Amino acid sequence: MRPYKCRKVEQEPEIKFFKPNGIPAKLLEKIVLTVDEFEAVRLADLNGLYHEEAAEKMNISRQTFGNIISSARYKIADCLVNAKALKIEGGEIEMKRNFFCSGCKNTWDEPFGTGRPEKCPKCGDKNFRRVNNRNEGCERGRKGRRCSNGG
Ligand SMILES: [Zn+2]
Repeated sequence: MRPYKCRKVEQEPEIKFFKPNGIPAKLLEKIVLTVDEFEAVRLADLNGLYHEEAAEKMNISRQTFGNIISSARYKIADCLVNAKALKIEGGEIEMKRNFFCSGCKNTWDEPFGTGRPEKCPKCGDKNFRRVNNRNEGCERGRKGRRCSNGG
C-alpha cells in the first residue's frame, strides 16, 4: 500500500448529522460523507475556490481533489433526491487550528489536540489569538451565514 497523504482540513463541520424531516432515523438509509469530502465542497462550492486553489489548501493533487468533490456531490445529491440521512465523519484528515499574533502579525497553524500554544513561534509573544478561516476578514460571517457586506 502507498503511504496515505493526510488531507488538510481547516474546520470540522458544526453539524454532523442531517436527516429528512418527519422520517424516523431507523427507517432511513444513511450516507457517510467524510470530513475531507465536506471540506472539498466547502472550499470549492461554498467559498468558490478554483479546484487548484482548494487542492493546494488541502495539500492534495488537483486530480485527487476532483475525485473527492465528485464523490461528495454524488452523496449529497443522493441524500437530497432519495431522502437519505447524511452523517459527516471520518476521512484521512489532518485538522489545523490557526493562530494570529498581534505582536508581530504572524499567523501559523497547529494541529488539533495539542492544547493552546504557549507563545508565538516567531516573536515569543503571548499576545495571540485563535482565528477562524471561515470568517476571513468578516466578523459577521460567523456560523456560515452570509454577511451583508458581500464578504
Ligand atoms: Zn509574534
